[in-house]
Amino acid sequence: MAVLVTGGAGYIGSHTVMALLEKGKDVIIVDNLVKGHEFAIKGNKFYCGDLRDGEFLDKVFKENEIEEIVHFAAYSLVGESMKDPIGYFNNNVGGTISLLNCMKKHGVKNIVFSSTAAVYGEPRNIPILEDDDTTPTNPYGESKLAIEKLLKWASDAGDINYIALRYFNAAGAYESGTLGEYHNPETHLIPIVLETALGKRDKMIIFGDDYDTPDGTCIRDYIHVMDLATAHLLALDKLNRDGKSGVYNLGNGLGFSVNEVINKAKEITGRDIPVEMGDRRVGDPAILIASSEKAQKELGWEPKFNDLDKIIEDAWKWSKFLFNKLDQK
Ligand code: NAD
Ligand code: UDP
Repeated sequence: MAVLVTGGAGYIGSHTVMALLEKGKDVIIVDNLVKGHEFAIKGNKFYCGDLRDGEFLDKVFKENEIEEIVHFAAYSLVGESMKDPIGYFNNNVGGTISLLNCMKKHGVKNIVFSSTAAVYGEPRNIPILEDDDTTPTNPYGESKLAIEKLLKWASDAGDINYIALRYFNAAGAYESGTLGEYHNPETHLIPIVLETALGKRDKMIIFGDDYDTPDGTCIRDYIHVMDLATAHLLALDKLNRDGKSGVYNLGNGLGFSVNEVINKAKEITGRDIPVEMGDRRVGDPAILIASSEKAQKELGWEPKFNDLDKIIEDAWKWSKFLFNKLDQK
Protein backbone atom coordinates (compact mmCIF):
# COMPACT_ATOMS: atom_id res chain seq x y z
CA MET A 1 0.00 0.00 0.00
CA ALA A 2 1.43 3.34 -1.06
CA VAL A 3 1.11 7.07 -0.43
CA LEU A 4 0.67 9.16 -3.57
CA VAL A 5 2.42 12.53 -3.28
CA THR A 6 1.40 15.04 -5.94
CA GLY A 7 3.95 17.82 -6.44
CA GLY A 8 6.56 15.63 -4.72
CA ALA A 9 9.39 17.15 -6.80
CA GLY A 10 8.66 20.60 -5.37
CA TYR A 11 9.96 22.26 -2.23
CA ILE A 12 7.59 21.16 0.55
CA GLY A 13 6.60 17.97 -1.29
CA SER A 14 10.17 16.66 -1.53
CA HIS A 15 10.80 17.28 2.18
CA THR A 16 7.57 15.50 3.09
CA VAL A 17 8.60 12.59 0.87
CA MET A 18 11.82 12.34 2.92
CA ALA A 19 9.78 12.23 6.13
CA LEU A 20 7.43 9.57 4.68
CA LEU A 21 10.38 7.43 3.54
CA GLU A 22 11.96 7.74 6.97
CA LYS A 23 8.70 6.30 8.37
CA GLY A 24 9.06 3.33 6.02
CA LYS A 25 6.19 4.37 3.71
CA ASP A 26 6.05 3.35 0.06
CA VAL A 27 5.94 6.68 -1.80
CA ILE A 28 4.72 7.30 -5.35
CA ILE A 29 5.33 10.79 -6.76
CA VAL A 30 3.38 12.51 -9.52
CA ASP A 31 4.82 15.80 -10.77
CA ASN A 32 4.92 17.47 -14.17
CA LEU A 33 8.26 19.17 -13.32
CA VAL A 34 6.91 22.51 -14.50
CA LYS A 35 8.08 24.00 -11.20
CA GLY A 36 9.76 21.01 -9.54
CA HIS A 37 13.21 19.52 -10.05
CA GLU A 38 14.64 16.12 -10.84
CA PHE A 39 17.20 16.47 -8.04
CA ALA A 40 14.31 16.70 -5.54
CA ILE A 41 12.67 13.40 -6.53
CA LYS A 42 13.18 11.05 -3.59
CA GLY A 43 10.26 8.60 -3.68
CA ASN A 44 10.18 4.89 -4.54
CA LYS A 45 8.51 5.55 -7.90
CA PHE A 46 8.13 8.68 -10.04
CA TYR A 47 5.56 9.50 -12.71
CA CYS A 48 6.14 12.62 -14.80
CA GLY A 49 2.80 14.02 -15.88
CA ASP A 50 0.06 16.54 -15.29
CA LEU A 51 -2.68 15.93 -12.74
CA ARG A 52 -5.24 17.32 -15.17
CA ASP A 53 -4.48 14.47 -17.59
CA GLY A 54 -7.16 12.04 -16.40
CA GLU A 55 -5.90 9.08 -18.46
CA PHE A 56 -2.37 9.48 -17.15
CA LEU A 57 -3.59 9.72 -13.56
CA ASP A 58 -5.87 6.72 -13.97
CA LYS A 59 -2.84 4.69 -15.09
CA VAL A 60 -0.95 5.72 -11.94
CA PHE A 61 -3.89 4.55 -9.79
CA LYS A 62 -4.21 1.29 -11.77
CA GLU A 63 -0.52 0.44 -11.52
CA ASN A 64 -0.20 1.02 -7.79
CA GLU A 65 -2.10 0.18 -4.65
CA ILE A 66 -2.63 3.74 -3.52
CA GLU A 67 -4.02 4.01 -0.01
CA GLU A 68 -3.76 7.73 0.71
CA ILE A 69 -2.83 11.02 -0.90
CA VAL A 70 -0.77 14.07 0.02
CA HIS A 71 -1.64 16.79 -2.48
CA PHE A 72 0.94 19.57 -2.97
CA ALA A 73 0.76 20.06 -6.75
CA ALA A 74 -0.28 23.64 -7.51
CA TYR A 75 0.93 26.99 -8.75
CA SER A 76 1.64 29.16 -5.74
CA LEU A 77 3.01 32.57 -6.69
CA VAL A 78 0.77 35.45 -5.65
CA GLY A 79 2.09 37.92 -8.24
CA GLU A 80 1.86 35.39 -11.07
CA SER A 81 -1.71 34.58 -10.03
CA MET A 82 -2.70 38.27 -10.30
CA LYS A 83 -1.54 38.23 -13.94
CA ASP A 84 -2.97 34.81 -14.80
CA PRO A 85 -6.03 34.03 -12.65
CA ILE A 86 -7.51 31.67 -15.26
CA GLY A 87 -4.30 29.64 -15.41
CA TYR A 88 -4.19 29.46 -11.61
CA PHE A 89 -7.77 28.25 -11.23
CA ASN A 90 -7.29 25.87 -14.15
CA ASN A 91 -4.18 24.26 -12.66
CA ASN A 92 -5.04 24.34 -8.96
CA VAL A 93 -8.76 23.61 -9.04
CA GLY A 94 -8.63 21.60 -12.30
CA GLY A 95 -5.79 19.40 -10.99
CA THR A 96 -7.68 18.75 -7.77
CA ILE A 97 -10.92 17.83 -9.56
CA SER A 98 -9.04 15.36 -11.73
CA LEU A 99 -7.40 13.87 -8.61
CA LEU A 100 -10.70 13.60 -6.73
CA ASN A 101 -12.32 11.90 -9.73
CA CYS A 102 -9.59 9.25 -9.72
CA MET A 103 -9.78 8.83 -5.95
CA LYS A 104 -13.52 8.24 -6.18
CA LYS A 105 -13.17 5.84 -9.09
CA HIS A 106 -10.51 3.79 -7.29
CA GLY A 107 -12.07 4.00 -3.82
CA VAL A 108 -9.24 6.00 -2.20
CA LYS A 109 -10.64 8.03 0.69
CA ASN A 110 -7.96 9.97 2.53
CA ILE A 111 -6.31 13.15 1.30
CA VAL A 112 -4.12 15.77 2.98
CA PHE A 113 -4.21 19.05 1.09
CA SER A 114 -1.74 21.98 1.01
CA SER A 115 -3.72 25.08 1.75
CA THR A 116 -2.29 28.43 2.72
CA ALA A 117 -2.50 31.46 4.99
CA ALA A 118 -3.41 33.34 1.77
CA VAL A 119 -7.01 32.11 2.24
CA TYR A 120 -7.41 34.64 5.06
CA GLY A 121 -6.50 37.79 3.12
CA GLU A 122 -6.00 40.81 5.41
CA PRO A 123 -6.68 39.31 8.85
CA ARG A 124 -8.82 41.03 11.47
CA ASN A 125 -7.26 39.19 14.41
CA ILE A 126 -3.74 38.13 15.27
CA PRO A 127 -3.00 35.30 15.86
CA ILE A 128 -5.27 33.94 13.14
CA LEU A 129 -7.69 31.15 14.03
CA GLU A 130 -9.10 28.60 11.58
CA ASP A 131 -12.63 29.96 11.79
CA ASP A 132 -11.63 33.60 11.18
CA ASP A 133 -12.91 35.28 8.00
CA THR A 134 -11.56 33.97 4.73
CA THR A 135 -11.43 36.77 2.16
CA PRO A 136 -8.42 36.16 -0.09
CA THR A 137 -6.84 39.19 -1.75
CA ASN A 138 -5.43 37.32 -4.75
CA PRO A 139 -6.42 34.54 -7.21
CA TYR A 140 -3.89 32.12 -5.70
CA GLY A 141 -5.53 32.27 -2.25
CA GLU A 142 -8.96 32.22 -3.83
CA SER A 143 -8.12 29.05 -5.81
CA LYS A 144 -6.99 27.33 -2.60
CA LEU A 145 -10.15 28.41 -0.79
CA ALA A 146 -12.24 27.08 -3.68
CA ILE A 147 -10.46 23.73 -3.29
CA GLU A 148 -11.11 23.70 0.46
CA LYS A 149 -14.81 24.20 -0.28
CA LEU A 150 -14.79 21.45 -2.90
CA LEU A 151 -13.12 19.09 -0.40
CA LYS A 152 -15.74 19.90 2.20
CA TRP A 153 -18.64 19.13 -0.12
CA ALA A 154 -16.98 15.94 -1.35
CA SER A 155 -16.42 14.92 2.26
CA ASP A 156 -20.04 15.73 3.20
CA ALA A 157 -21.13 13.52 0.30
CA GLY A 158 -19.05 10.67 1.75
CA ASP A 159 -16.61 10.55 -1.19
CA ILE A 160 -13.45 11.49 0.74
CA ASN A 161 -11.97 12.36 4.13
CA TYR A 162 -9.63 15.34 4.04
CA ILE A 163 -7.34 17.46 6.14
CA ALA A 164 -6.47 20.90 4.72
CA LEU A 165 -3.29 22.32 6.20
CA ARG A 166 -3.02 26.10 5.97
CA TYR A 167 0.72 26.72 5.99
CA PHE A 168 2.11 30.08 6.94
CA ASN A 169 5.63 30.87 5.58
CA ALA A 170 7.48 27.66 4.77
CA ALA A 171 11.23 28.09 5.14
CA GLY A 172 14.43 26.20 5.99
CA ALA A 173 15.78 23.01 4.45
CA TYR A 174 16.56 19.37 5.11
CA GLU A 175 19.13 19.28 7.91
CA SER A 176 21.87 17.67 5.80
CA GLY A 177 21.83 20.76 3.58
CA THR A 178 21.46 18.66 0.42
CA LEU A 179 17.76 19.35 -0.19
CA GLY A 180 15.98 22.66 0.05
CA GLU A 181 14.01 25.39 -1.66
CA TYR A 182 14.71 26.28 -5.29
CA HIS A 183 12.09 28.28 -7.09
CA ASN A 184 12.83 29.93 -10.39
CA PRO A 185 12.08 32.81 -10.27
CA GLU A 186 12.46 32.99 -6.49
CA THR A 187 10.00 35.26 -4.72
CA HIS A 188 10.32 34.11 -1.10
CA LEU A 189 12.14 36.31 1.38
CA ILE A 190 14.63 33.94 3.04
CA PRO A 191 16.12 32.40 -0.14
CA ILE A 192 16.36 35.89 -1.66
CA VAL A 193 18.15 37.20 1.44
CA LEU A 194 20.61 34.30 1.26
CA GLU A 195 21.18 34.65 -2.51
CA THR A 196 22.09 38.27 -1.77
CA ALA A 197 24.45 37.16 1.01
CA LEU A 198 26.11 34.84 -1.51
CA GLY A 199 26.55 37.70 -3.98
CA LYS A 200 24.15 36.12 -6.50
CA ARG A 201 22.18 39.36 -6.37
CA ASP A 202 23.76 42.83 -6.01
CA LYS A 203 21.04 43.81 -3.58
CA MET A 204 17.57 42.88 -2.46
CA ILE A 205 14.47 45.03 -2.22
CA ILE A 206 12.45 45.42 0.98
CA PHE A 207 8.82 45.70 -0.08
CA GLY A 208 7.73 48.66 2.02
CA ASP A 209 8.65 50.08 5.44
CA ASP A 210 5.47 52.05 6.04
CA TYR A 211 3.34 49.24 7.47
CA ASP A 212 1.74 49.51 10.88
CA THR A 213 4.38 47.33 12.55
CA PRO A 214 7.16 48.25 15.03
CA ASP A 215 9.84 48.69 12.32
CA GLY A 216 7.45 49.39 9.42
CA THR A 217 8.23 46.16 7.53
CA CYS A 218 5.85 43.19 7.19
CA ILE A 219 5.71 40.51 9.85
CA ARG A 220 5.39 36.82 8.99
CA ASP A 221 5.30 33.50 10.81
CA TYR A 222 8.16 31.35 9.43
CA ILE A 223 7.77 27.62 9.86
CA HIS A 224 10.52 25.05 9.25
CA VAL A 225 9.76 22.83 6.25
CA MET A 226 10.54 19.66 8.24
CA ASP A 227 7.99 20.69 10.87
CA LEU A 228 5.49 21.05 8.04
CA ALA A 229 6.50 17.60 6.75
CA THR A 230 5.84 16.07 10.18
CA ALA A 231 2.37 17.63 10.27
CA HIS A 232 1.45 15.76 7.06
CA LEU A 233 2.37 12.43 8.62
CA LEU A 234 0.28 13.26 11.68
CA ALA A 235 -2.63 14.31 9.46
CA LEU A 236 -2.51 11.00 7.59
CA ASP A 237 -2.41 9.16 10.93
CA LYS A 238 -5.46 11.09 12.11
CA LEU A 239 -7.43 10.35 8.95
CA ASN A 240 -6.58 6.67 9.32
CA ARG A 241 -7.60 6.78 12.97
CA ASP A 242 -10.92 8.62 12.87
CA GLY A 243 -11.60 9.67 9.25
CA LYS A 244 -12.63 13.14 10.42
CA SER A 245 -12.17 15.96 7.93
CA GLY A 246 -10.88 19.36 9.05
CA VAL A 247 -8.80 22.45 8.52
CA TYR A 248 -5.64 23.33 10.47
CA ASN A 249 -3.22 26.27 10.59
CA LEU A 250 0.48 25.47 10.66
CA GLY A 251 2.80 28.15 11.98
CA ASN A 252 5.01 28.82 14.99
CA GLY A 253 2.81 31.55 16.43
CA LEU A 254 5.81 33.91 16.30
CA GLY A 255 6.20 36.84 13.97
CA PHE A 256 9.41 38.27 12.48
CA SER A 257 9.66 41.43 10.42
CA VAL A 258 11.50 41.59 7.09
CA ASN A 259 14.21 43.68 8.80
CA GLU A 260 14.56 41.13 11.60
CA VAL A 261 15.00 38.32 9.07
CA ILE A 262 17.68 40.27 7.19
CA ASN A 263 19.55 41.15 10.39
CA LYS A 264 19.43 37.54 11.60
CA ALA A 265 20.73 36.36 8.21
CA LYS A 266 23.62 38.88 8.41
CA GLU A 267 24.52 37.47 11.83
CA ILE A 268 24.35 33.82 10.72
CA THR A 269 26.11 34.19 7.36
CA GLY A 270 28.63 36.80 8.49
CA ARG A 271 28.08 38.44 5.09
CA ASP A 272 26.91 41.83 3.96
CA ILE A 273 23.35 41.92 2.61
CA PRO A 274 22.79 45.13 0.62
CA VAL A 275 19.17 46.26 0.67
CA GLU A 276 17.15 48.90 -1.09
CA MET A 277 13.81 50.19 0.17
CA GLY A 278 11.07 49.60 -2.38
CA ASP A 279 7.32 50.06 -2.69
CA ARG A 280 4.81 47.76 -1.05
CA ARG A 281 4.09 44.55 -2.97
CA VAL A 282 0.42 44.47 -3.96
CA GLY A 283 -1.63 42.09 -1.83
CA ASP A 284 0.85 41.82 1.11
CA PRO A 285 -0.93 41.94 4.49
CA ALA A 286 1.04 43.75 7.23
CA ILE A 287 1.05 40.87 9.73
CA LEU A 288 0.34 37.15 9.39
CA ILE A 289 0.78 35.02 12.49
CA ALA A 290 -0.91 31.68 13.04
CA SER A 291 -2.56 30.18 16.00
CA SER A 292 -1.66 26.49 15.61
CA GLU A 293 -3.32 25.44 18.85
CA LYS A 294 -5.85 23.31 16.99
CA ALA A 295 -3.11 21.36 15.16
CA GLN A 296 -1.23 20.91 18.41
CA LYS A 297 -4.31 19.66 20.23
CA GLU A 298 -5.94 17.51 17.55
CA LEU A 299 -2.99 16.32 15.45
CA GLY A 300 -0.49 16.21 18.32
CA TRP A 301 1.81 18.46 16.28
CA GLU A 302 4.68 20.19 18.06
CA PRO A 303 7.06 22.26 15.90
CA LYS A 304 10.61 21.16 16.74
CA PHE A 305 12.65 23.75 14.85
CA ASN A 306 10.73 26.74 16.04
CA ASP A 307 13.40 29.38 16.10
CA LEU A 308 14.48 31.65 13.29
CA ASP A 309 18.18 30.84 13.80
CA LYS A 310 17.66 27.17 12.98
CA ILE A 311 15.47 27.98 9.98
CA ILE A 312 18.03 30.37 8.51
CA GLU A 313 21.01 28.14 9.39
CA ASP A 314 19.50 25.19 7.49
CA ALA A 315 18.48 27.40 4.56
CA TRP A 316 22.01 28.85 4.46
CA LYS A 317 23.62 25.39 4.37
CA TRP A 318 21.33 24.53 1.46
CA SER A 319 21.87 27.81 -0.44
CA LYS A 320 25.66 27.29 -0.37
CA PHE A 321 25.27 23.68 -1.55
CA LEU A 322 22.81 24.65 -4.33
CA PHE A 323 24.85 27.51 -5.77
CA ASN A 324 28.03 25.49 -5.55
CA LYS A 325 26.33 22.86 -7.74
CA LEU A 326 24.83 25.44 -10.11
CA ASP A 327 28.21 27.18 -10.46
CA GLN A 328 29.86 23.87 -11.43
CA LYS A 329 27.43 23.39 -14.35
P1 NAD B 1 6.59 24.08 -5.52
O1 NAD B 1 6.26 24.89 -6.73
O2 NAD B 1 8.01 23.96 -5.14
O3 NAD B 1 5.95 22.62 -5.67
C1 NAD B 1 4.76 22.36 -6.38
C2 NAD B 1 5.02 21.17 -7.29
O4 NAD B 1 3.82 20.81 -7.98
C3 NAD B 1 6.07 21.47 -8.37
O5 NAD B 1 7.06 20.47 -8.35
C4 NAD B 1 5.28 21.47 -9.68
O6 NAD B 1 6.04 21.02 -10.78
C5 NAD B 1 4.12 20.54 -9.34
N1 NAD B 1 2.89 20.80 -10.10
C6 NAD B 1 2.21 21.96 -10.20
N2 NAD B 1 1.10 21.79 -10.96
C7 NAD B 1 1.07 20.47 -11.32
C8 NAD B 1 0.17 19.68 -12.09
N3 NAD B 1 -0.92 20.21 -12.66
N4 NAD B 1 0.45 18.36 -12.27
C9 NAD B 1 1.56 17.82 -11.71
N5 NAD B 1 2.45 18.51 -10.98
C10 NAD B 1 2.20 19.83 -10.78
O7 NAD B 1 5.73 24.71 -4.33
P2 NAD B 1 5.94 24.56 -2.75
O8 NAD B 1 6.51 25.83 -2.25
O9 NAD B 1 6.60 23.28 -2.43
O10 NAD B 1 4.42 24.49 -2.29
C11 NAD B 1 3.75 23.23 -2.22
C12 NAD B 1 2.30 23.46 -1.89
O11 NAD B 1 2.21 24.18 -0.67
C13 NAD B 1 1.54 24.28 -2.93
O12 NAD B 1 0.27 23.74 -3.08
C14 NAD B 1 1.48 25.66 -2.30
O13 NAD B 1 0.34 26.36 -2.72
C15 NAD B 1 1.42 25.34 -0.82
N6 NAD B 1 1.97 26.39 0.06
C16 NAD B 1 3.28 26.74 -0.01
C17 NAD B 1 3.78 27.72 0.87
C18 NAD B 1 5.24 28.12 0.87
O14 NAD B 1 5.62 28.95 1.70
N7 NAD B 1 6.09 27.58 0.01
C19 NAD B 1 2.93 28.33 1.80
C20 NAD B 1 1.58 27.94 1.82
C21 NAD B 1 1.12 26.95 0.96
N1 UDP C 1 9.70 40.41 0.87
C1 UDP C 1 10.55 41.47 0.65
N2 UDP C 1 11.45 41.37 -0.38
C2 UDP C 1 11.54 40.27 -1.19
C3 UDP C 1 10.66 39.18 -0.92
C4 UDP C 1 9.75 39.30 0.10
O1 UDP C 1 10.50 42.49 1.33
O2 UDP C 1 12.37 40.26 -2.11
C5 UDP C 1 8.72 40.49 1.98
C6 UDP C 1 7.26 40.37 1.52
O3 UDP C 1 6.76 41.65 1.20
C7 UDP C 1 6.60 39.76 2.76
C8 UDP C 1 7.70 38.94 3.40
O4 UDP C 1 8.93 39.40 2.83
O5 UDP C 1 6.24 40.78 3.64
C9 UDP C 1 7.55 37.45 3.12
O6 UDP C 1 7.37 37.29 1.71
P1 UDP C 1 7.36 35.87 1.01
O7 UDP C 1 7.20 36.10 -0.46
O8 UDP C 1 8.55 35.09 1.45
O9 UDP C 1 6.09 35.15 1.61
P2 UDP C 1 4.53 35.57 1.62
O10 UDP C 1 4.28 36.07 3.01
O11 UDP C 1 4.31 36.59 0.56
O12 UDP C 1 3.85 34.29 1.35
